[in-house]
Amino acid sequence: MTTLTPVLNYISGEWRGSAAALHAEVTNPATAELLAQTPISPAAEVDEAVIAAAGAFPAWRRTPPTERVGYLFRLRGLLEEHHEELARTITTECGKTLEEARAEMRRAIENVEVACGIPILMQGYNSEDIAAGIDETMIRQPLGVCAVIAPFNFPGMIPFWFLPYAIACGNTCVVKPSERTPLTMQKIIGLAARTGLPAGVLNLVNGARETVEAILDHPAVQAVSMVGSTPVARAIYGRAAAAGKRVQCQGGAKNLVVVMPDADMETTTRVLADSAFGSAGQRCLAASLVVTVGEARQPLTEAICQAAVRRVVGCGLEQGVEMGPVISPQSKARIARLIGVALDEGARLLVDGRGAVIPGYERGAFIRPTVLENVPAGGAIFKTEIFGPVLGMMHVNTLDQAIGLVNSSEYGNMACLFTASGIAARKFRHAAVAGNIGINIGVAAPMAFFPFSGWKASFFGDLHGQGMDAVEFFTQKKVVVERWPKEWTRKF
Ligand code: NAD
Repeated sequence: MTTLTPVLNYISGEWRGSAAALHAEVTNPATAELLAQTPISPAAEVDEAVIAAAGAFPAWRRTPPTERVGYLFRLRGLLEEHHEELARTITTECGKTLEEARAEMRRAIENVEVACGIPILMQGYNSEDIAAGIDETMIRQPLGVCAVIAPFNFPGMIPFWFLPYAIACGNTCVVKPSERTPLTMQKIIGLAARTGLPAGVLNLVNGARETVEAILDHPAVQAVSMVGSTPVARAIYGRAAAAGKRVQCQGGAKNLVVVMPDADMETTTRVLADSAFGSAGQRCLAASLVVTVGEARQPLTEAICQAAVRRVVGCGLEQGVEMGPVISPQSKARIARLIGVALDEGARLLVDGRGAVIPGYERGAFIRPTVLENVPAGGAIFKTEIFGPVLGMMHVNTLDQAIGLVNSSEYGNMACLFTASGIAARKFRHAAVAGNIGINIGVAAPMAFFPFSGWKASFFGDLHGQGMDAVEFFTQKKVVVERWPKEWTRKF
């Protein structure tokens, strides 16, 4: 029998066991091995964490930004040193390949690097003599206790869209990872603790819905950053905003990718297959529907089916594996059911990934890449985020029709165009109603110094994670108007 990893909370600089009555199971999706049990921390433990964060805030906000980023420099060093170990933890609890997990941690580190620029990024501005002898200054101040609520699919990266900026700006934090993948953040908090960060600046509380609701209802929490599915994002946004908090909630997606006949089919196929099937389709920037325009249909359909069949599926820790399992048997069953719904709606199965059995991993939650064609516009599959390695294909005759389809989606996380035409690219960039646009790119993930910009039902709020949006979100502006009459200067 393997020993389970204890899942602890980190409050006021100490690791504490939870008194939770309920737990969620953490399993390795490739083997179904039970790894840990996440405590669903009750409101009293959230309260302890928030009180610790509130207590640490006055001294932390007075710590000069240059000193605050000193801790982040040290954290960056430790993340680099433990990069491989963190990547292995991600793969073990989340299922993605080691290469994908390494890339995920690289993105996390990049956010720490950007946040190290806070001494200049959070500067204000001023005007001398807005009237005779009167000066006006804008300064940015931190908010107080900020909460970060994360999804299962990027347990290492997503909290970093917020955390380093929040802390660097002088806030203190409570982080609530996904109950399905808590082990990565537990390791990361362990590294953060080694930087010497003062007790209470960064706290970890494990749990699920009840824990989140206690965070949302806590009067001392000033701001909430959340990433997850759209129904949960909408509910969290509503509840936290009604309580007067500053909120940013990034939701689910259904990303459309348009392929023009002049696109380079080889590159397009490779990039599109990585987008649709990479991380087993469990990315909010996964290509979910591909719309071929005119003569792009036949070559792309053939090539993408071959790529789907060829993709090497297996345990993400093994070399040469290109796609791991989905997160759980429940998720696998849900994806298989949605493929059935697509067939009921009139779609045609070109590659069927159901019933996958991986030798040596018979208990794993595997589903192979699946390709469907003739997905009907506006039907259930057009609207539903599958969050698995399933690519739906649709066909139209013109770019305008394709843009019409993109814009009829409820979601607006990403839209991509594959083409050799600058005019088509410019038209698409201008007209597509989505926050992250890719031109000959399959996963249009913004770098850490750009906002992660979802729109429509993919985002609730106005300021996004990462870059200057994060600096804006984690600071409040104060304007100071000062009069120093000329006559007084004679006294000095
Ligand atoms: P989820 O919505 O189930 O959970 C997200 C977080 O909310 C978790 O910490 C969970 O414990 C908590 N939670 C769940 N139900 C809750 C409830 N009823 N009330 C309060 N809190 C609750 O999401 P998931 O399955 O972990 O992650 C996958 C989803 O996240 C997908 O929809 C994906 O598109 C989305 N996602 C979006 C982005 C983005 O940037 N837009 C990035 C990654 C993932």
